[in-house]
Amino acid sequence: MSRFRGCLIGALVGDCFGKPFEETGKTTIESVKKFVDNVEAEKSKKNAKILHYTDDTEMRLSVEASLLKHKGFDAQDMAKRFAKEYFASKIYRNYGGHVTKIFSDWSSKHLEDVFLPARQQFNGAGSYGNGGGMRIAPAALFMYNENSQKLKELTDKITQLTHTHNLGILGAYLQAQAIHLVLNTTESPFPTERFLDKLIETMIYYEEEAFGKSYSQKHQKLKVIKEFLDEPDVDKRKIIHKLGNNVTALGSVPTSIYSFLRALSDIDGLKERNAFERTVIYAISLGGDTDTIATMAGAIAGAYWGEEAIPITWQQNCEGLALTQKHASSLYEYANK
Ligand SMILES: [Mg+2]
Repeated sequence: MSRFRGCLIGALVGDCFGKPFEETGKTTIESVKKFVDNVEAEKSKKNAKILHYTDDTEMRLSVEASLLKHKGFDAQDMAKRFAKEYFASKIYRNYGGHVTKIFSDWSSKHLEDVFLPARQQFNGAGSYGNGGGMRIAPAALFMYNENSQKLKELTDKITQLTHTHNLGILGAYLQAQAIHLVLNTTESPFPTERFLDKLIETMIYYEEEAFGKSYSQKHQKLKVIKEFLDEPDVDKRKIIHKLGNNVTALGSVPTSIYSFLRALSDIDGLKERNAFERTVIYAISLGGDTDTIATMAGAIAGAYWGEEAIPITWQQNCEGLALTQKHASSLYEYANK
């Protein structure tokens, strides 16, 4: 239960803390730490400002509500919830322009095939953004006791409502599979080597299925992560260059996985922080699409370290905490019944 809740609360915290840094171009460990210090100090004040979440969390909450309501995937219901939340929200949630076009299509006419607007995007190529990965954590919890093929099928469906390019789908699956593996890992210290080998093995399998043998190079980024973890301190520019910090699935999911693994050991400037805190601060410090990278990294870290590792002051400063906790508990009940 602690790890189910840790996963979703970790995702929430990553999104809310990452939001103020999105594409600001000035992120360092120092600047993120200063922000976190302020958040922690704020909480003790009466009129503390709440940190709002973005599209990552808004869509994740809809995924959870829909999965729980229907005890599985219901395309019409999930699409309806995505669009309803988007149009009802009074707060600016930083949605990408393309996805909002899909919401409009869903709302303006009844579609038998709700996947159609997503398939038509980018001249029929579909999006390979990280919008699938950013909201996929609940799928990994929902499929906690199921095999990776079942998880793959559910991830594909949830993602394809908005992202139909193979890279977008595979990126979401990589994130889901990472959470699934971590959630099922009880050893300490964390078995990094085995975790990465398992991820590489599954990614090669699904990449070949999607692209054919000659084009299946995408798991290479997981091998880069292995190399980086062997070096004492990898330059931030090198990480961004090799793994990415952008809005594509391939340019952000590996970075979230790396952030979790990097934060298993000490990081300069974060000596007094635990591994969960290090993960989120480090992920944000890499800059770029900070809310999404931190939400994905936070979900993985929370699934391993559990709810107790996430400081109460961090949790209580985030909008959407109560609903996130409720969904996590319900998913736990569902997956373990
Ligand atoms: Mg966002």
